[in-house]
Amino acid sequence: MGKRKRRKNRSGRPLNAGGGSPAERQSPPEDPALRLESQAIDPAVPPERVADSLLAYYEGEHVPGELAFEIVREASAERARDIARAALELEPTSLPALTLAGAVAEALKEADACVGYYRKAVEISPDPMTHWCYVVALQAADRNADALEELERLSRLDPAEWAADPLYRDSYVEALRRQTLFSDADACPCGDGRSYDDCCRPRELAALDRFLDRSPFDALRRAILQYEPEAEDLEPVLAEARSRWFMEDVDRERDEGEARLFAEWAWTCARLGEDEDDEEEPGDSVLRLFLEDPATPGPLRRQARQWIRGVRWGLWLIKDPTPDPGVRVIDLLTGSTLYASIPHEQIDGLVPWTAILGALVPVEGVWRTGAAFYPMSPSTADHLASVILGLAGGVAKQVAGSKRASRLDPYGGLPATVVAEQMGQADELVCHFVSHMVDLALPELLGLLHEWAREVPALRNMDSHPLLLIKADIAVADPASLQRHLQDHPDFRMHEDEIVWMGRPMTPGEAEASLAGIKAMARTEGIDAEDLDPSNRWTLGTVELKGSVLTLDTNSEERLEAFLEVLGGFGAEPEMVARTAVDPRAELARRAADPSELSMPADVEGWGMSKAGLDAWARTWPDEAVPALAGMTPRRAAQHAQGHILLEALLRDLEHRAAANLRRGVVDVDVAELRAVLGMSEGHRPHVSATSPV
Ligand SMILES: [Zn+2]
Repeated sequence: MGKRKRRKNRSGRPLNAGGGSPAERQSPPEDPALRLESQAIDPAVPPERVADSLLAYYEGEHVPGELAFEIVREASAERARDIARAALELEPTSLPALTLAGAVAEALKEADACVGYYRKAVEISPDPMTHWCYVVALQAADRNADALEELERLSRLDPAEWAADPLYRDSYVEALRRQTLFSDADACPCGDGRSYDDCCRPRELAALDRFLDRSPFDALRRAILQYEPEAEDLEPVLAEARSRWFMEDVDRERDEGEARLFAEWAWTCARLGEDEDDEEEPGDSVLRLFLEDPATPGPLRRQARQWIRGVRWGLWLIKDPTPDPGVRVIDLLTGSTLYASIPHEQIDGLVPWTAILGALVPVEGVWRTGAAFYPMSPSTADHLASVILGLAGGVAKQVAGSKRASRLDPYGGLPATVVAEQMGQADELVCHFVSHMVDLALPELLGLLHEWAREVPALRNMDSHPLLLIKADIAVADPASLQRHLQDHPDFRMHEDEIVWMGRPMTPGEAEASLAGIKAMARTEGIDAEDLDPSNRWTLGTVELKGSVLTLDTNSEERLEAFLEVLGGFGAEPEMVARTAVDPRAELARRAADPSELSMPADVEGWGMSKAGLDAWARTWPDEAVPALAGMTPRRAAQHAQGHILLEALLRDLEHRAAANLRRGVVDVDVAELRAVLGMSEGHRPHVSATSPV
């Protein structure tokens, strides 16, 4: 009944709300809808009288299905049937009589009768609620081929509404499932009596083909590409758009995906024949000229119109990139969900929780991705979403005043990848506005993404100093006395030829992870290290003393400085005679420049760790304070309203990274295990809401 409730307000008249036009006719103090409801379940009132007042009250309208369920539950199935029969006798073809009879049949699980009443109802009603009930009835009667064809028709009329409805996806998923479920001779589930092969299979296959078939869309894009050179004044406008987009970055211009994304964006964005002094004349886009050209064939013109009117630019989160046959995408900027047809060559490389920046175009009722989109990790998407919503909020504030603008920051700073899906379908106007913002700012947004991808993470050591691998030769005045000082000092420990310089104590988690790492390393080198004592302090460096020169290995300028100070304190009069330094950022910068790494968040933790190190990390991480959780431990965050949302975002990012690593053959953390430990597994996830107090 969840679906029915969700749709309740769509029928125009919620069952228990007061007001509404029929209430104007001499309404007693009591709510007429409530009065109707109590009459309906009162056995003292004859069914004919109930039917009569019901038809009068819902004249020309769809009767809410809840009423039928209520009568069945509170009175009896027999009474519900009597009232429906009486209503049909009074008005055999009116919308209230047919929808009441349909709902009663639904409540009594009489699937075929239900289909029959609603089919008659949709013939006379434009109400989406009626069509929705008809599709539900078809699905309940196992007439999925009919449901699919009806959904295709409805989605062509209103793709934003229907391709967002779970019903739409359900029918495609069911059609795909049936292809392997039923064999040749199986009776068709629709009850027609023929075999599935002779009945619904061909129709369901045809619907699946239409859903997956990109060729009409490809034909449209090819036709526009051919048309492009014919557009007047295009060259200078395109050159300007190109330089704004690529900013002279040759590598980006050579990237095939980005070049395609640019091309499609330019069809609608580059304004031709624009007169800079005349703001009233914004000029035409290539797509619009193509649409208006009388030489353009009718079907292509229709699709071009669908593109211009319906295109949605956005940042879409894909939880599961396995097509079934479509892919559910959530717009991180509005919370709206669509079920889209994405071709294999685009979806195959993606891992769970990938977000894509790009356009979805409704072509003959099916949402399709354009020629390219830009994929990113969920954490990058969260940053980008807040940038775009910030932009949109700023513009909205200027246009409509601050009151309305505040609605454009729906997430209150929480990660969009977690809270967007809780928002439900957004208003069409908001969707168009946000899509337009993304469209306008797309070159700059992509520039930002490239900048972030190039940005090398600040690698730091345990003291938060920038990491620099230093080897320094230091001459000292009195080596014998220095050696005695070092031996007596609690921060230095003699270890064969080496002196180990030690820092702060490790937390238990740090100690376990570090020990596991050392053991794993020792095993690969064939050294027996199983009995190794856990070192409970961080090593700051190692010192080798040869004659009057000592060699220090350490990993930051700060530590080198501190060491020289320690030597000075011992009266060693240190003097640096040679040093080499390696900056590990250089290696990471090379990685970041490799586009295949773009979807990988550059996170040092877990990166390059052995399996044993990862396991140790996963064991202790739940109980260590994490900066990204506002300093909470994951275990604490799991119990905390806002912490829960932040933790979920973090786990999704880990899942995304682990899946990407797995694909490259690199071992990563077992996030399912982490989720289980934290009570954050799918299905056990408590409801999180952006509007609940945090
Ligand atoms: Zn059939």
